[in-house]
Amino acid sequence: MAKFCENCGKPLKENQDICLNCGVAVKKDTPTNTTNVTNINTNPTTAPKSKVCAGLLALFFGTIGIHNFYLGYSGKGVAQLLITLLTCGFGAIITGVWALIEAIMLFTGSIGVDGNGVPLQ
Ligand SMILES: [Zn+2]
Repeated sequence: MAKFCENCGKPLKENQDICLNCGVAVKKDTPTNTTNVTNINTNPTTAPKSKVCAGLLALFFGTIGIHNFYLGYSGKGVAQLLITLLTCGFGAIITGVWALIEAIMLFTGSIGVDGNGVPLQ
């Protein structure tokens, strides 16, 4: 595997970082590039979520925990969903108050991050 300087075309040794002929730094091969690609791919999943959107979901659908599913707090979401469903809706008195408090906490910034620790917008 012979490497060549991109600037002047002179042959380079295996571990040579700078071309001795023209002084141009030699580009490193793929390893650093592949890590950059994976970083870009993971960004969309950690995109900040809207606290206004989450707060509105809590106000309208909070009794079944939709806002917690949206934010990635699946455990709390499942708990609210089950309390409401397993009581044939009577538990919505509890989960409704619970969701209302969470909506207020979302609007006031008391809940500032989602389930992945990403700050809300
Ligand atoms: Zn060169």
